[in-house]
Amino acid sequence: MDQKYVYFFNEGNATMSELLGRKGANLAEMVNLNLPVPAGFTITTEACRRFYEEGKQIHPVISSQIEDALATLEQITGKAIGHPTRPLLVSVRSGSSISMPGMMDTILNLGMNDKTAVSLADNTGNPSFAYDSYRRFIQMFSDIVLNVDGSLFEAELTKMKERAGVVRDSDLSADQLFELVHIYKMIVAEETEEPFPEDPIEQLMLAIGAVFDSWYNQRAMIYRRIHKIPDHLGTAVTIQEMVFGNCGDTSGTGIAFSRHPSTGSPHLFGEFLLNAQGEDIVAGIRTPETLDLLKETIPRAYQKLTAVAQCLEKHYRDIQDIEFTVENNRLFLLQTRSAKRTAEAAIKVVVDMANENLISREEALMRVDPAFLCPLMQYTIDPQAELEVIGSGMGASSGAATGIITFDAEEAERLHRTGLSVILVRPETTPEDIHGMVASDGILTVRGGVTSHAAVVARDLGKPAIVGCGTFIVDLEERRLYTDTLTLNEGDVITICGSTGRVINGEAPLVPPTFSEEFRTLLMWANEVKILPVLGSVNTPKEARLARKLGAEGVGLCRTEQMFKDPHRRPVMTKMMLSRNQIERRKILNKLIPMQRKAFLGIFREMEGRPVTIRLIDPPLHEFLPNAETLTLEIERASVAGNTTEMEEKQALLERVKILHESNPAFGHRGCRLGITYPEIYECQTQAIAEAALELKKEGIFVYPRIIVPLLSDSHEMQAVRENVQNSLEQVFTLYEDRIDIPIGAFLELPRACLTADKMAAHADFFVFGTNDLTQSTYGFSRDDAEGKYLAYYLDHKILADNPFVVLDQEGVGELIKVGVTKGRLKNPDLKIGVCGDHTSEKHSVEFLQNAGLDFISCLPHKIPIARISAAQAAIKSLKRG
Ligand code: PEP
Ligand code: MG
Repeated sequence: MDQKYVYFFNEGNATMSELLGRKGANLAEMVNLNLPVPAGFTITTEACRRFYEEGKQIHPVISSQIEDALATLEQITGKAIGHPTRPLLVSVRSGSSISMPGMMDTILNLGMNDKTAVSLADNTGNPSFAYDSYRRFIQMFSDIVLNVDGSLFEAELTKMKERAGVVRDSDLSADQLFELVHIYKMIVAEETEEPFPEDPIEQLMLAIGAVFDSWYNQRAMIYRRIHKIPDHLGTAVTIQEMVFGNCGDTSGTGIAFSRHPSTGSPHLFGEFLLNAQGEDIVAGIRTPETLDLLKETIPRAYQKLTAVAQCLEKHYRDIQDIEFTVENNRLFLLQTRSAKRTAEAAIKVVVDMANENLISREEALMRVDPAFLCPLMQYTIDPQAELEVIGSGMGASSGAATGIITFDAEEAERLHRTGLSVILVRPETTPEDIHGMVASDGILTVRGGVTSHAAVVARDLGKPAIVGCGTFIVDLEERRLYTDTLTLNEGDVITICGSTGRVINGEAPLVPPTFSEEFRTLLMWANEVKILPVLGSVNTPKEARLARKLGAEGVGLCRTEQMFKDPHRRPVMTKMMLSRNQIERRKILNKLIPMQRKAFLGIFREMEGRPVTIRLIDPPLHEFLPNAETLTLEIERASVAGNTTEMEEKQALLERVKILHESNPAFGHRGCRLGITYPEIYECQTQAIAEAALELKKEGIFVYPRIIVPLLSDSHEMQAVRENVQNSLEQVFTLYEDRIDIPIGAFLELPRACLTADKMAAHADFFVFGTNDLTQSTYGFSRDDAEGKYLAYYLDHKILADNPFVVLDQEGVGELIKVGVTKGRLKNPDLKIGVCGDHTSEKHSVEFLQNAGLDFISCLPHKIPIARISAAQAAIKSLKRG
């Protein structure tokens, strides 16, 4: 028997989304729940894969199953496709197992031709509606299936409205729409050199093929790459009897959310357009009204919708995004799916649902994607700031962004590559704009509502967005945005607030985030279950305070060199690096000690009672040296100006810079190599740490400093540095006539250090893995070069599945960590081992680190909440596995 490629809605259910796509599976589930769904069937994702295997042909077995299903649909509906008096019209819609909103194609009103248009007009007594549906069908079908440029039709529609003196499409008369159909068909004939296909079966097969084909359109491919959706899944196609929202003022179309997708507020929320078809909302062409309009105009349908939304939310135990149509007062459901939501809403919804006992606390924690929370760490506009508000629209995706405005996706992408922050401004966005939206810091559209393409995609990408900002007119040709009183040209800077919908002229001051009560609750639940302590990687007292506020259980890494990156301290550090001998170096180091002691005092105070791990100086020399090219220019300038003293000074400096120049600084004279060859540097740092600790001890403040030695490759390096550090500590203890326990640990960030961890453990009181450098040295990738040059290609071509600097490479780097842990604990079973590096909040990496037996993770302050949720998820998973 042939494989089954077509399923009627009543043959499926919600668990079959891999085969039927999410849309097909959920339509089936709604039919099983006896909800009002127009009849239809789904062609499987396997049929899509077969379509590609057959060289983009629908195999005869599949087309015959489609024809059989169509015959059944005709029986159920009492209508027939292309029938002169009882015409069946259908929608043809895509739907993969993972929702990809608006990325693939949809065709409505299929089955329209000259004859069925007449009978639709006669049957409904509404010729305007019949010809409106027909002209929409020709436009959609020609655009998607016949590749005729959609703007040719839009231009004719606009002309017709101008001639008729009307604003809305729905105000065109039957005669005008009839004429438009004629014009549209002429466009098709001219563009394709074939008449528009009148045979509905031919239309159907062509449309199904085109929807399959849209799986590989550019926007769908980009969307899949961003969201890591595998290419092999394919799309299903649903064929469903049309219901019409455009047949008068007791009809309409809308989208309803069982809770608010931006705020998470637990009330029905949505948008509605009277006398319109679904695509009008999704495309953002007409700005819809709220559901209040439905409540006022068709109250029974509103009540039914409220009940249905509650039923679906209870059934799926998640917020639903429901597409509906009201045809002559009757409500029909066309789709339900889990709603895309902002991070803020995601948190509120899971916490509320757990409090409503709809889901458990563990489920609430598991449902939040930690990476998705980044927008909540976003800065917002300072409420105290005086702002020049120049426009307002609907806040569609929260957060604030400042950037230069640009008017197309390509330019946004280009500017982003040059390192600029960009706000993409469009009349409305279309799926073709996806790459520009990815590259932009924020999105502003003049048209569309909060369920338009721009809004949905922005929320999905976690980017601030304002939609329906009617204050402005966009002039794409002149590349400007203007009101009666103000013009902004491409390149001008604006700030947008995606929460309030305000557009501000210039750069607005931003303030750090504050967390909602629900977020604090969720983080508290995370702490109740997580196993791994989360520490902060901080370099200043200010950062330490922020880290504590965000839940840091200590400092896992203080990069001491970072204290010298501010403009006042940097010259001292540069001088130290340029010193010619120990005497010179000691002189400058004596200036550095008080600076460091002050910083350590501040950090210790903020972290009272908690461990503070301080790394001795690590960076390559060149990070603090003057640039040789700049120096050469300055020497030339001084020479031209006849300033001999300056010229000689700079020349001497240049000589020194040349001597210190390294061919490969990342593997150069840095880390413990610097501390071994210039022991006075680590001596002074140790002195500053011990003095700060003992000062606070005198005040009765408990501090737990730990010293860590960077970039070790051999245990003898550790041994040498340890001896030196211990001597320095003893000197301070003698001077203070007091002592404090300061463990000395090894920073493992080179493969050799991991492989010889047993020997390293003989001289180290604890270990910390530095996964940034360990990734660089394991792959032999320099991060800056890799991310700037070839890594994107590797990811696009699936040579690597993930960026190893973001997601820990478990096979390679992870193995080295495991070896390091095993060997280290072989020598010292109580050895405490932590991890620093940019992987320590990413959920897969955190899970791996927990299971590899690490004792703590440390990350940048703003990543701490994300790391806490990741750690909670890792703990829940291991609990489940028992
Ligand atoms: C590391 O290498 O992982 C690390 C934390 O050190 P840095 O990022 O300072 O090189
Ligand atoms: Mg490092």
